[in-house]
Formats: sequence, structure tokens, C-alpha cells
Amino acid sequence: MSEATTYIAKVRDEIVSRDPNQPEFLEAIDNFFNSITPVLEKHPEYIKANLLGRLTEPERAFQFRVPWVDDAGNVQVNRGFRVQFNGAIGPYKGGLRFHPSVNLSIVKFLGFEQIFKNSLTGLPIGGAKGGSDFDPKGKSDNEVMRFTQSFMTELQKHIGPDLDVPAGDIGVGAREIGFMYGQYRRLNGYQAGVLTGKSLQFGGSLARTEATGFGLLYYTAAMLKDQGETLEGKTIKLSGAGNVAIYAAQKAAELGATVLTASDSNGYVYDPNGIDYKIVKQIKEVERGRIKDYADRVATATYYEGSVWDFDVDYDIALPCATQNEIDGGRAARAIQNGAKIVNAGANMPCTPEAVKAFKQAAVIVGPAKAANAGGVAVSALEMSQNSERLSWTFEEVDQLLKRIMEDIFKESAEAAKTYGLGNDYLAGANIAGFKKVAEAMMAQGVI
Ligand code: NAP
Repeated sequence: MSEATTYIAKVRDEIVSRDPNQPEFLEAIDNFFNSITPVLEKHPEYIKANLLGRLTEPERAFQFRVPWVDDAGNVQVNRGFRVQFNGAIGPYKGGLRFHPSVNLSIVKFLGFEQIFKNSLTGLPIGGAKGGSDFDPKGKSDNEVMRFTQSFMTELQKHIGPDLDVPAGDIGVGAREIGFMYGQYRRLNGYQAGVLTGKSLQFGGSLARTEATGFGLLYYTAAMLKDQGETLEGKTIKLSGAGNVAIYAAQKAAELGATVLTASDSNGYVYDPNGIDYKIVKQIKEVERGRIKDYADRVATATYYEGSVWDFDVDYDIALPCATQNEIDGGRAARAIQNGAKIVNAGANMPCTPEAVKAFKQAAVIVGPAKAANAGGVAVSALEMSQNSERLSWTFEEVDQLLKRIMEDIFKESAEAAKTYGLGNDYLAGANIAGFKKVAEAMMAQGVI
């Protein structure tokens, strides 16, 4: 065993003994550690500085009570979280997730990934994540407002435009951001740059809503270009029907591909003629309905219950855009049988370690979340710039910058993989490229 391998095993053991019940966090750590050995071999000074020991421990983590009153007058209590993981290269930045599954392990996994994603954008932003186990599904607008106001009443103590700038994630869209921004402003006065993903009337950026989905397709197009191909005529299996999925479906269609499926947590629709993103948008964003409703409106679409990854249809590219670990080893084997050549992550950590291994063995290319879905946070950082300048850029300006950032992320990850002799292992490439800048910043700033 090399010094680097021994060191990585030691840090991992410490993490497991400190937090034995955080499986998602450990999975994210393993994904990262599996790629980083060659960098440590080249930089023994990182081992001496115990860089990984410091990097895997959040700079700060908050957990707080969120009491609120439901429409029936009952007092409900949820749990709120914010993990400010690493601020070496800029203010903490990362979304808030409202979903019943949210716990410290999930927030830490997301916050850890966010460090490298944010670094890859080339913009000066540190990594953070937060959220609550509150479930917005089935709640009235008034309930969502009372909950988010209570949530922000505590969170506002810890955030600020130069300190920590949250955004949306699962269950947190324009409505929730609007309520949270309102409560922050009520308590602290006007500070546009404290949240991103805001609506356009109060400091939001054009193209932020579309950014993660569009960015995923710009990244995919860059990957295909590297192989001398384009999206024209390609078939895509897409999961999710939320913010990322809707705009991924739009851009895929604009670039000439056919999106065969869309899904939510109950089931999925299959349409061989291609999913119409406008109908999904109307159902999910306006009516707050279920993906099942799509099949009631589109004659060529069929609805099935269960996971879209258990459905057999031939396709070229998988774009998981729902949630973590949606593709396990068995589903990966199925994707390979169905002809998938590329799996690019719109969701964070959508493939289990077994799935990643199966794809690697079958020479299916995997674009990891920290690279493929970095478009959202990149445009969030551009929203921060516009807020500081008190200017609004045009849709085209932001979209062009987003495209360039996604192409650069692909290029940097590919180059890092090549430098370390890892071929087209873009997962390792993204880890290495994202780590480099953070590591150099941490080394320069001393033991803090
Ligand atoms: P969203 O708008 O809330 O949509 C999430 C979608 O995924 C919904 O269709 C939801 O179905 C489905 N879903 C959620 N949990 C699921 C589960 N356990 N099983 C099956 N389906 C599930 O969220 P989003 O913003 O699109 O985020 C989707 C993914 O992208 C997440 O992993 C998020 O971390 C990642 N991401 C988002 C952004 C961003 O800018 N929004 C940026 C980077 C990464 P239901 O409606 O039934 O819940």
C-alpha cells in the first residue's frame, strides 16, 4: 500500500467511526476517495497537511426546530438543516431541499459534492447544502408559506450575500424561494443577493430556471462532440418531472434528440413520439399534479407505475434527473441491455456504486453530477454577480455563459482524466479537477 492509500483508508475509518449512520455521506466520500489517490501520490504535502481529514469535516453544521401551524390549526414540527461545508474559494453556496427523506446524512452528502461542483464552475463559490424533512406535496400555499417563514426565521441568522447564499433543490422552487426571500427581507431589509433562484421581479436571473436542465444538455453535447457526434437523432431515457427534468427535456428536443420518458415518485410516462416538456411543465409547475396526468392528455403516451429504470426500451442516453441512488446495479444492467452508451447525471448521485461499476465494466460513459448538473449553481453565481452590479443580463447573455461554462467543465474534467492516465473516466476527472482548486486554496490559507 502506498502512503496515499494508507492515508485515505485512515481518514475513511475516522469518518465511519465518527458518523457510522450516514450512508449517503459515506457513499459520496467513497465516490471521491476512489478517484483521488493519484493526486495525493503527486502531492505528499496534502497528506502532511491532513487535507482530506479537514475537507471531509464541515466547517459548520446547523440543525434547528421548525414549528408551524397547519390549516387545521395543529402545531407541526419539522427539522431544518444547513451545512456550510467548505468556504475556501468563496461564500458558501448550495440549495435547500424540502423532502421527507432529508436528514443530516443526505445534507452532508449534497454539501460535500457541492464543494467540487462549485469549484468546477470556475466561479468563486464555496460548498453548502440545507433543507428540511418538510414535505410540500399536498400542502396548501398558506401552509407552505407558514412553514418557509418559520424555517427562514432561524436560517437568516446564518446566511448573507457574502456569507452563505442558498438556492432551490427538490421541493424548493420559485414559490418557496419567494416566501423565504420575503421573510428574510422583512427581518433584515433589502439584500437581493442572499438567495438565488429568485423570481425575475425581485432580482432573479433570466435563464436560472432553465440552467440545470439546459446545462446538462450542453455538457452532453460537449461529450458527444468529443466523440465526433451530436444529439441529433439520439433517443433519451429521462427520469424526473421537476425543474431539472423539464428543461433538460426542452433543450434535448431543441438539439434534435427524442426524450422517451418522464417520471415522478409514483410512476412514469413513455411516449415514442417524444415527451412535450410544455405539458409536463403545466402539470407539475402550474397544476402541481402528477405525471400520470400526462398520459390522459397525450394520445401516444402510456402511464406505468413504478420506476422508469425498470422499463425496457432501447435508447442511447440516460439522463437521471430525479434523486439519489435511483439507478442501482440491476437497473444499470438493464440500461446496458437497452443500449445506453452515456449516463449523465441531472440528479445528484443518481447511480449507486454498483451501478457506476457496472457502467464502467460495460464501457458506458458516466458524466457525474458535480460536472453534468453544475449549470444551476453556475447561473446562481451569475445571479449573485447581477445582484451586486444591480443589473440584469439578457437571457442570451446568461445562456451563452452557461454553455461556455459547461463546455469548459467537460474539457477540464477530460483533461484531468487524461493527465492521470484515466482515459474517459470523467467521474474521476471531475473529482480531480474540482479538488485541485479547493486543495490549493486550503493549503494557501493554513490550518483552519
Ligand atoms: P424537483 O423540481 O422537486 O423535482 C424532483 C423530481 O424528482 C420530481 O419529479 C419528483 O417526483 C422526483 N423525485 C423526487 N424524489 C424522488 C424519489 N425518491 N423517487 C422517485 N422520484 C423522485 O427537484 P429538481 O430541482 O428537479 O431536482 C432533481 C435532482 O436534481 C435532485 O437530485 C437535485 O439535487 C438535483 N439538482 C437540482 C438542481 C436545481 O437547480 N434545481 C441543481 C443541481 C442538481 P414527485 O413530484 O413525485 O416528488
